[in-house]
Amino acid sequence: MTNHLYDALFGRHADSEATFLILPDGQSLAYRAFLAEAARYAHALRAAGLAPGDRVAMQLEKSPAMLAVIAGAIRAGIVFLPLNTAYTAAEVAYFVANSGAKLLLADGARAEALGPVARDCGATLQTLNADGTGSFADAAAGQNDDYPTEACGPDTLAAFLYTSGTTGRSKGAMMTHDNLLSNARVLVDYWRFTAEDVLLHALPIFHTHGLFVATNVALLAGCPMIFLPKFDAEAVIGLLPRATAMMGVPTFYTRLLDDPRLTRDLVAGMRLFISGSAPLLAETHVAWEEWTGHRILERYGMTETNMNTSNPYEGARRAGTVGFPLPGVELKIRDTEGAEVAQGEIGVIEVRGPNVFKGYWQMPEKTREELREDGFFITGDLGRIDAEGYVTIVGRAKDLIISGGFNVYPKEVEMALDDQPGVLESAVIGVHHPDFGEGVVAVVVAEKGAALDPERLRQGIAAELAAFKRPKHIAVVAELPRNTMGKVQKNLLRNSYADLFR
Ligand code: ATP
Ligand code: MG
Repeated sequence: MTNHLYDALFGRHADSEATFLILPDGQSLAYRAFLAEAARYAHALRAAGLAPGDRVAMQLEKSPAMLAVIAGAIRAGIVFLPLNTAYTAAEVAYFVANSGAKLLLADGARAEALGPVARDCGATLQTLNADGTGSFADAAAGQNDDYPTEACGPDTLAAFLYTSGTTGRSKGAMMTHDNLLSNARVLVDYWRFTAEDVLLHALPIFHTHGLFVATNVALLAGCPMIFLPKFDAEAVIGLLPRATAMMGVPTFYTRLLDDPRLTRDLVAGMRLFISGSAPLLAETHVAWEEWTGHRILERYGMTETNMNTSNPYEGARRAGTVGFPLPGVELKIRDTEGAEVAQGEIGVIEVRGPNVFKGYWQMPEKTREELREDGFFITGDLGRIDAEGYVTIVGRAKDLIISGGFNVYPKEVEMALDDQPGVLESAVIGVHHPDFGEGVVAVVVAEKGAALDPERLRQGIAAELAAFKRPKHIAVVAELPRNTMGKVQKNLLRNSYADLFR
């Protein structure tokens, strides 16, 4: 039977003894052994009562076993939803209920907390630990190493990937086999991945970046991944000499730059450093190049669309931009009425292509709001395209501040602040203001050892920014609240400063 995604990513490696995963303890796992494990999990999923189209939710620590369950689910035509390991039992309950998952897989250590969740949702709970033990592993143990692959076409649903919840409640993006495969094909080609590469993988696999971008690219290129349970500067520094490419969130790069063991020699064998999921400060881009000799390639994507744009492999990788629309992706900048803005103007980024999801599971209204009839997805990100075609993101539409009737783009204010001496980074938000509707508030972090004086900052940016854009309040804090993907949680900041002007 043909299975659009399984055949292309996994089936092609069926008889291969080549290395798929290199583990931190030095052990490695070949494709053949991995796929046999995946087949046993496919049987175990069916044995748990799931049929093609049913959902399995998984809140699991990153491990080869978790990846094998995912491969098994794809092979069996079962829709999987990987969940952030940080979610509480109450949060997991939402995802299980929303998705209608029949089976919830969790680490043994979470079984007690998640048992009632599964029961309330009418799902079964089975355990799978990072070391490959647990009740679900037991159920898989005696199963056949082969599996009659379920027929799945390009439009069959493969996964519900829930958005990060940065701007509101997480939504389950319905991803088809071809949404995932078409994008992986483009990325392998655009970023020149081959079987000669070794990808250093330190991202979580519950999010599109580590799961669909990194893992699918490696599978399609047939290159091994050094598979780390999480980002750890020490481990990454030790393993960089064995790798040729790394994908990371911006915090990977800032943390590595802070480590004196990062040297040019250490990364001499690297071919490519990629960044995404959150904006990479231009300053980090420049510092990385000065220090290592490598220009980070920044790209832009999201749960609902996989990757949309990328800086070029050859040609200028421009700091502060996310590059060009990928082949097959149409990108437009539109105003809220849906009309395209003039070249160079700021508007909402909309994208269309084989990568764009089928809608939000059981949220027809949200789907209608964000997915136009002509197939364009309204990303909610504000951006512009320069004369050479480079796309720059200036923030999220929901973070746009309207103060006294004027639009204030947080990124512009943040860039002015970041340029001030002693400023490491900043986040600019709008909060209720009795006169202006919203008042601009800046939350600023100092560089190590620097002391910041809000009054000096205010004077420093005055020459650069019109009065209506200047913060009415500047708070200096030790660090910005970030989620696991390195995204600044502006909603939390807005809550903290909500009553500032009341
Ligand atoms: P939610 O949709 O639930 O509010 P989220 O949008 O943060 O959460 P994700 O799909 O994980 O969930 O993140 C996609 C978003 O990440 C994009 O819409 C964009 O705002 C941001 N992003 C991704 N890559 C970049 C980048 N290179 N530069 C700036 N922002 C980026
Ligand atoms: Mg989003």
